[in-house]
Amino acid sequence: MLTLRLLNRGVSWVGGIVKRPLPPNVADNRAIVTAFGRKGLFAYSSGSPASSNELMWLSAFATEEPPSRDSITIKEIAADVRKRYGAWGDPVVRDIVSTAPIETVYPIWVLPDLPHWGQDGIVLVGDAAHAMSPTTAQGACQALEDAQALALLLCETLRKAYDSGEKLDKGADIWPQKERDAVELSIRLLFTIRSPRVSGIAEAGRQLDRKRRNLTRFKEYAMYLFLWLMFRLSSLGK
Ligand SMILES: Cc1cc2nc3c(=O)[nH]c(=O)nc-3n(C[C@H](O)[C@H](O)[C@H](O)COP(=O)(O)OP(=O)(O)OC[C@H]3O[C@@H](n4cnc5c(N)ncnc54)[C@H](O)[C@@H]3O)c2cc1C
Repeated sequence: MLTLRLLNRGVSWVGGIVKRPLPPNVADNRAIVTAFGRKGLFAYSSGSPASSNELMWLSAFATEEPPSRDSITIKEIAADVRKRYGAWGDPVVRDIVSTAPIETVYPIWVLPDLPHWGQDGIVLVGDAAHAMSPTTAQGACQALEDAQALALLLCETLRKAYDSGEKLDKGADIWPQKERDAVELSIRLLFTIRSPRVSGIAEAGRQLDRKRRNLTRFKEYAMYLFLWLMFRLSSLGK
């Protein structure tokens, strides 16, 4: 049996959609604008076709304890978000936090590395198998990779089972043992192939979260310098 114990990352997020004209870099370049600061991360992009003028936004920030309705009210969360980002340089961020309705806050929970991802015909993929910090920006990507890997494995193992020469009664009520074995093998191989990659990405996310938690001013400027250098060097290479 698999026991799942969710871990709190000490990070929460708020977000939603605001109805407003899209900033030119979002409308023209389909950009996702992401800003990192000492007290959190803020991102916005188009939430639907540019013509509908909907800006999707989210902000993630450190919260030592997972916020709950007993410990903090939505009003307090909204006031905190406005205080946190109300003086940021980007006028779009200031506009969003001053007008966006904030209805809830989501603590971020992740899974520890699991010993396997399924058995007896049941398989976990995506967040069910490896919910990771959104800092990685990889959760949905890894879910898609799982789906593709599992489809390829099932295709191959089942094809081998059907090609084995032994007649399989596909119409029978009882699940033929050969098919059952092929599915079990696929589930085991999925874990063997995918789990090292996924746990490496999850660990990178844990490290980033630790580093980004309420940065000191010195670390904040070191991060800006690093990001500036990174973009500068990559544009020099073009
Ligand atoms: C703030 C934030 C930012 C993120 N940014 C990125 C990013 O930039 N890039 C990226 O790749 N990933 C990102 N992610 C992660 C990404 O959203 C998830 O990893 C991804 O959605 C996981 O997909 P999933 O299909 O495994 O699970 P989910 O998207 O959670 O889908 C599970 C579905 O099952 C439904 N469900 C649950 N229980 C039942 C039930 N009993 N019966 C029927 N249905 C049920 C749920 O309603 C849900 O629709 C981010 C996550 C967060 C929170």
